[in-house]
Amino acid sequence: MIIVNSIPKLREARKALKGDTGFVPTMGALHEGHLSLMKSAKEHAPNLIVSIFVNPTQFGPDEDLDTYPRYTEGDTKKCESAGCDILFLPNVSDIYVPDAKTEVHVSELTNRLCGASRPGHFNGVTTIVTKLFNIVQPDLAVFGKKDYQQLAVIRKMVLDLNIPVEIIGAPTIRENDGLAKSSRNLKLNAQMRQSAPALRQGLLKAQAAFQNGQRSKEELERIVAEVIDDAKAGLRSDYISCVDPKSLEAYEGGEEALIAIAIFAGDVRLIDNIELHKA
Ligand code: AMP
Repeated sequence: MIIVNSIPKLREARKALKGDTGFVPTMGALHEGHLSLMKSAKEHAPNLIVSIFVNPTQFGPDEDLDTYPRYTEGDTKKCESAGCDILFLPNVSDIYVPDAKTEVHVSELTNRLCGASRPGHFNGVTTIVTKLFNIVQPDLAVFGKKDYQQLAVIRKMVLDLNIPVEIIGAPTIRENDGLAKSSRNLKLNAQMRQSAPALRQGLLKAQAAFQNGQRSKEELERIVAEVIDDAKAGLRSDYISCVDPKSLEAYEGGEEALIAIAIFAGDVRLIDNIELHKA
Protein backbone atom coordinates (compact mmCIF):
# COMPACT_ATOMS: atom_id res chain seq x y z
CA MET A 1 0.00 0.00 0.00
CA ILE A 2 1.29 3.44 -0.92
CA ILE A 3 0.57 6.24 1.54
CA VAL A 4 0.42 9.74 0.06
CA ASN A 5 -0.20 13.12 1.68
CA SER A 6 -0.27 15.47 -1.26
CA ILE A 7 -2.38 15.87 -4.39
CA PRO A 8 0.59 15.61 -6.85
CA LYS A 9 1.78 12.38 -5.17
CA LEU A 10 -1.74 10.97 -5.27
CA ARG A 11 -2.03 11.74 -8.99
CA GLU A 12 1.33 10.12 -9.68
CA ALA A 13 0.46 6.92 -7.75
CA ARG A 14 -3.02 6.85 -9.35
CA LYS A 15 -1.50 6.96 -12.85
CA ALA A 16 0.44 3.77 -12.20
CA LEU A 17 -2.74 1.75 -11.44
CA LYS A 18 -3.92 -0.41 -14.32
CA GLY A 19 -7.60 -1.30 -14.66
CA ASP A 20 -10.62 0.10 -12.82
CA THR A 21 -10.26 1.89 -9.52
CA GLY A 22 -12.75 1.92 -6.66
CA PHE A 23 -12.74 4.70 -4.07
CA VAL A 24 -13.92 4.87 -0.47
CA PRO A 25 -13.83 8.35 1.08
CA THR A 26 -13.86 8.37 4.90
CA MET A 27 -13.20 10.59 7.89
CA GLY A 28 -11.21 7.85 9.66
CA ALA A 29 -11.61 6.12 13.04
CA LEU A 30 -12.28 3.17 10.79
CA HIS A 31 -14.62 0.37 11.85
CA GLU A 32 -16.24 -2.63 10.19
CA GLY A 33 -18.71 -0.37 8.36
CA HIS A 34 -15.86 1.33 6.50
CA LEU A 35 -14.14 -2.03 5.92
CA SER A 36 -17.32 -3.42 4.36
CA LEU A 37 -17.31 -0.52 1.87
CA MET A 38 -13.71 -1.35 0.98
CA LYS A 39 -14.66 -5.01 0.50
CA SER A 40 -17.52 -4.01 -1.75
CA ALA A 41 -15.21 -1.72 -3.79
CA LYS A 42 -12.76 -4.60 -4.22
CA GLU A 43 -15.58 -6.78 -5.54
CA HIS A 44 -16.26 -4.22 -8.27
CA ALA A 45 -12.74 -3.11 -9.25
CA PRO A 46 -9.18 -4.46 -8.94
CA ASN A 47 -7.73 -1.25 -7.45
CA LEU A 48 -8.76 0.50 -4.26
CA ILE A 49 -8.03 4.03 -3.08
CA VAL A 50 -9.17 5.12 0.40
CA SER A 51 -9.04 8.68 1.71
CA ILE A 52 -9.07 9.74 5.34
CA PHE A 53 -9.89 13.41 5.72
CA VAL A 54 -11.89 15.00 8.52
CA ASN A 55 -13.56 17.60 6.34
CA PRO A 56 -13.97 20.86 8.28
CA THR A 57 -16.52 22.38 5.90
CA GLN A 58 -19.18 19.79 6.71
CA PHE A 59 -19.12 20.61 10.43
CA GLY A 60 -21.18 23.47 11.83
CA PRO A 61 -19.66 25.99 14.28
CA ASP A 62 -21.07 24.18 17.35
CA GLU A 63 -20.34 20.67 16.11
CA ASP A 64 -17.64 18.16 17.03
CA LEU A 65 -14.86 18.90 14.50
CA ASP A 66 -12.21 19.35 17.23
CA THR A 67 -13.17 16.24 19.15
CA TYR A 68 -13.84 14.00 16.13
CA PRO A 69 -11.79 10.81 16.79
CA ARG A 70 -8.48 10.53 14.89
CA TYR A 71 -6.52 7.23 14.82
CA THR A 72 -4.28 7.43 11.78
CA GLU A 73 -1.88 4.64 12.79
CA GLY A 74 -4.55 2.01 13.45
CA ASP A 75 -6.53 3.17 10.41
CA THR A 76 -3.48 2.72 8.18
CA LYS A 77 -3.12 -0.92 9.28
CA LYS A 78 -6.82 -1.55 8.66
CA CYS A 79 -6.62 -0.12 5.14
CA GLU A 80 -3.59 -2.25 4.38
CA SER A 81 -5.37 -5.45 5.56
CA ALA A 82 -8.43 -4.50 3.51
CA GLY A 83 -6.32 -4.58 0.34
CA CYS A 84 -6.11 -0.83 -0.21
CA ASP A 85 -3.58 0.15 -2.89
CA ILE A 86 -3.30 3.86 -2.16
CA LEU A 87 -4.18 5.59 1.11
CA PHE A 88 -4.67 9.34 0.70
CA LEU A 89 -4.17 11.38 3.88
CA PRO A 90 -4.30 15.04 2.85
CA ASN A 91 -4.05 18.03 5.17
CA VAL A 92 -6.73 20.71 5.25
CA SER A 93 -4.33 23.15 3.54
CA ASP A 94 -3.78 20.69 0.64
CA ILE A 95 -7.50 20.51 -0.02
CA TYR A 96 -8.73 24.05 0.65
CA VAL A 97 -7.13 27.15 -0.79
CA PRO A 98 -7.97 30.21 1.33
CA ASP A 99 -9.56 32.24 -1.49
CA ALA A 100 -11.85 29.51 -2.91
CA LYS A 101 -15.01 30.92 -4.49
CA THR A 102 -16.64 27.69 -5.64
CA GLU A 103 -19.00 25.36 -3.82
CA VAL A 104 -21.21 22.50 -4.99
CA HIS A 105 -24.84 22.75 -3.91
CA VAL A 106 -27.59 20.18 -4.51
CA SER A 107 -30.96 21.83 -3.95
CA GLU A 108 -34.15 20.46 -2.35
CA LEU A 109 -32.81 17.03 -1.30
CA THR A 110 -30.47 18.85 1.08
CA ASN A 111 -33.16 21.01 2.77
CA ARG A 112 -34.66 18.17 4.78
CA LEU A 113 -33.66 15.70 7.51
CA CYS A 114 -30.01 16.32 8.41
CA GLY A 115 -29.93 19.29 6.02
CA ALA A 116 -32.60 21.06 8.08
CA SER A 117 -30.75 20.67 11.37
CA ARG A 118 -27.20 21.06 10.00
CA PRO A 119 -27.26 24.12 7.69
CA GLY A 120 -24.39 24.04 5.20
CA HIS A 121 -23.48 20.43 6.03
CA PHE A 122 -24.35 19.02 2.62
CA ASN A 123 -22.59 21.82 0.75
CA GLY A 124 -19.48 20.73 2.65
CA VAL A 125 -20.12 17.11 1.70
CA THR A 126 -20.85 17.68 -2.00
CA THR A 127 -17.91 20.07 -2.37
CA ILE A 128 -15.39 17.71 -0.75
CA VAL A 129 -16.72 14.66 -2.63
CA THR A 130 -16.46 16.56 -5.94
CA LYS A 131 -12.92 17.65 -5.10
CA LEU A 132 -11.93 14.12 -4.07
CA PHE A 133 -13.49 12.68 -7.24
CA ASN A 134 -11.49 15.19 -9.32
CA ILE A 135 -8.29 14.35 -7.47
CA VAL A 136 -8.69 10.56 -7.32
CA GLN A 137 -10.58 10.10 -10.61
CA PRO A 138 -12.13 6.77 -9.58
CA ASP A 139 -14.31 4.60 -11.80
CA LEU A 140 -16.63 3.83 -8.89
CA ALA A 141 -17.12 4.95 -5.29
CA VAL A 142 -18.86 3.21 -2.40
CA PHE A 143 -20.95 5.03 0.23
CA GLY A 144 -22.86 3.61 3.19
CA LYS A 145 -26.64 3.54 3.40
CA LYS A 146 -26.25 4.50 7.04
CA ASP A 147 -25.88 8.05 5.71
CA TYR A 148 -28.91 7.55 3.47
CA GLN A 149 -29.46 11.21 2.65
CA GLN A 150 -25.77 11.68 1.84
CA LEU A 151 -25.93 8.75 -0.59
CA ALA A 152 -29.08 10.18 -2.25
CA VAL A 153 -27.51 13.64 -2.55
CA ILE A 154 -24.29 12.26 -4.06
CA ARG A 155 -26.21 10.11 -6.54
CA LYS A 156 -28.13 13.20 -7.67
CA MET A 157 -25.00 15.34 -7.90
CA VAL A 158 -23.18 12.76 -10.03
CA LEU A 159 -26.19 12.50 -12.32
CA ASP A 160 -26.74 16.26 -12.63
CA LEU A 161 -23.07 17.11 -13.20
CA ASN A 162 -22.26 14.15 -15.50
CA ILE A 163 -19.52 13.00 -13.16
CA PRO A 164 -18.21 9.70 -14.61
CA VAL A 165 -18.18 7.78 -11.31
CA GLU A 166 -20.50 4.86 -10.58
CA ILE A 167 -22.00 5.21 -7.10
CA ILE A 168 -22.57 2.05 -5.09
CA GLY A 169 -24.65 2.01 -1.88
CA ALA A 170 -23.60 -0.49 0.81
CA PRO A 171 -25.69 -1.83 3.72
CA THR A 172 -25.32 -0.58 7.30
CA ILE A 173 -23.06 -2.67 9.52
CA ARG A 174 -24.21 -2.91 13.15
CA GLU A 175 -23.03 -3.89 16.61
CA ASN A 176 -24.55 -7.10 18.02
CA ASP A 177 -27.19 -5.05 19.86
CA GLY A 178 -28.25 -3.33 16.64
CA LEU A 179 -26.52 0.03 17.08
CA ALA A 180 -25.17 1.17 13.70
CA LYS A 181 -21.38 1.25 13.78
CA SER A 182 -20.13 4.81 13.82
CA SER A 183 -16.91 6.60 14.64
CA ARG A 184 -19.02 8.74 16.98
CA ASN A 185 -19.99 5.68 19.10
CA LEU A 186 -16.52 5.99 20.64
CA LYS A 187 -17.69 9.24 22.23
CA LEU A 188 -20.70 7.69 24.02
CA ASN A 189 -20.40 7.29 27.79
CA ALA A 190 -21.41 3.94 29.30
CA GLN A 191 -24.97 5.06 30.07
CA MET A 192 -25.57 6.49 26.60
CA ARG A 193 -24.05 3.40 24.99
CA GLN A 194 -26.65 1.33 26.86
CA SER A 195 -29.53 3.52 25.69
CA ALA A 196 -28.36 3.89 22.07
CA PRO A 197 -29.69 0.54 20.70
CA ALA A 198 -33.18 2.04 21.19
CA LEU A 199 -32.67 3.77 17.82
CA ARG A 200 -32.64 0.44 16.03
CA GLN A 201 -35.37 -1.03 18.24
CA GLY A 202 -37.70 1.86 17.43
CA LEU A 203 -37.03 1.53 13.71
CA LEU A 204 -37.66 -2.23 13.79
CA LYS A 205 -40.91 -1.73 15.65
CA ALA A 206 -42.07 0.74 12.99
CA GLN A 207 -41.03 -1.70 10.27
CA ALA A 208 -43.13 -4.43 11.89
CA ALA A 209 -46.10 -2.04 12.01
CA PHE A 210 -45.58 -1.13 8.33
CA GLN A 211 -45.52 -4.81 7.42
CA ASN A 212 -48.78 -5.23 9.35
CA GLY A 213 -50.38 -2.57 7.17
CA GLN A 214 -49.69 0.66 9.07
CA ARG A 215 -49.40 3.45 6.45
CA SER A 216 -49.80 6.56 8.58
CA LYS A 217 -46.69 8.74 8.58
CA GLU A 218 -47.59 10.20 11.98
CA GLU A 219 -48.24 6.81 13.54
CA LEU A 220 -45.01 5.29 12.17
CA GLU A 221 -43.03 8.24 13.54
CA ARG A 222 -44.86 8.01 16.88
CA ILE A 223 -43.91 4.33 17.25
CA VAL A 224 -40.21 5.19 16.87
CA ALA A 225 -40.49 8.19 19.21
CA GLU A 226 -42.14 6.09 21.91
CA VAL A 227 -39.31 3.55 21.96
CA ILE A 228 -36.72 6.35 22.05
CA ASP A 229 -38.59 8.10 24.90
CA ASP A 230 -38.82 4.84 26.86
CA ALA A 231 -35.07 4.18 26.60
CA LYS A 232 -33.42 4.37 29.98
CA ALA A 233 -31.83 7.78 29.79
CA GLY A 234 -30.58 10.74 27.94
CA LEU A 235 -31.86 10.29 24.38
CA ARG A 236 -33.27 13.42 22.75
CA SER A 237 -34.66 13.39 19.28
CA ASP A 238 -33.42 15.86 16.66
CA TYR A 239 -35.79 14.45 14.04
CA ILE A 240 -37.77 11.29 13.37
CA SER A 241 -39.12 11.48 9.81
CA CYS A 242 -41.01 9.08 7.62
CA VAL A 243 -40.27 10.07 4.03
CA ASP A 244 -40.45 8.93 0.45
CA PRO A 245 -37.16 7.03 -0.09
CA LYS A 246 -36.45 8.75 -3.43
CA SER A 247 -37.49 12.38 -2.97
CA LEU A 248 -36.99 12.39 0.84
CA GLU A 249 -40.25 14.38 0.99
CA ALA A 250 -42.92 13.54 3.55
CA TYR A 251 -44.35 10.03 3.09
CA GLU A 252 -47.87 10.16 1.73
CA GLY A 253 -48.72 6.47 1.54
CA GLY A 254 -47.61 3.69 -0.78
CA GLU A 255 -45.63 0.50 -0.50
CA GLU A 256 -42.18 2.03 0.04
CA ALA A 257 -41.00 4.40 2.71
CA LEU A 258 -37.94 5.36 4.69
CA ILE A 259 -37.76 6.35 8.33
CA ALA A 260 -34.68 8.45 9.02
CA ILE A 261 -33.75 9.56 12.53
CA ALA A 262 -31.18 11.72 14.27
CA ILE A 263 -30.99 11.36 18.02
CA PHE A 264 -28.74 13.07 20.55
CA ALA A 265 -27.31 10.65 23.11
CA GLY A 266 -25.92 13.27 25.51
CA ASP A 267 -24.05 15.55 23.15
CA VAL A 268 -23.32 12.82 20.59
CA ARG A 269 -25.57 12.97 17.54
CA LEU A 270 -26.41 9.52 16.15
CA ILE A 271 -28.23 8.82 12.90
CA ASP A 272 -29.92 5.71 11.56
CA ASN A 273 -32.67 4.77 9.12
CA ILE A 274 -34.74 1.87 7.89
CA GLU A 275 -36.25 1.16 4.48
CA LEU A 276 -39.87 0.01 4.76
CA HIS A 277 -41.34 -2.46 2.30
CA LYS A 278 -44.13 -4.99 2.37
CA ALA A 279 -43.13 -8.18 4.23
P1 AMP B 1 -17.49 8.64 7.69
O1 AMP B 1 -16.09 8.21 7.99
O2 AMP B 1 -18.39 8.60 8.87
O3 AMP B 1 -17.56 9.91 6.89
O4 AMP B 1 -18.08 7.53 6.73
C1 AMP B 1 -17.43 7.16 5.54
C2 AMP B 1 -18.32 6.21 4.79
O5 AMP B 1 -18.59 5.06 5.60
C3 AMP B 1 -19.69 6.80 4.43
O6 AMP B 1 -20.04 6.37 3.12
C4 AMP B 1 -20.60 6.20 5.46
O7 AMP B 1 -21.94 6.08 5.03
C5 AMP B 1 -19.98 4.81 5.64
N1 AMP B 1 -20.36 4.21 6.91
C6 AMP B 1 -20.26 4.77 8.14
N2 AMP B 1 -20.76 3.94 9.07
C7 AMP B 1 -21.19 2.83 8.42
C8 AMP B 1 -21.81 1.60 8.82
N3 AMP B 1 -22.08 1.35 10.10
N4 AMP B 1 -22.11 0.70 7.88
C9 AMP B 1 -21.84 0.93 6.56
N5 AMP B 1 -21.25 2.07 6.12
C10 AMP B 1 -20.93 3.00 7.03
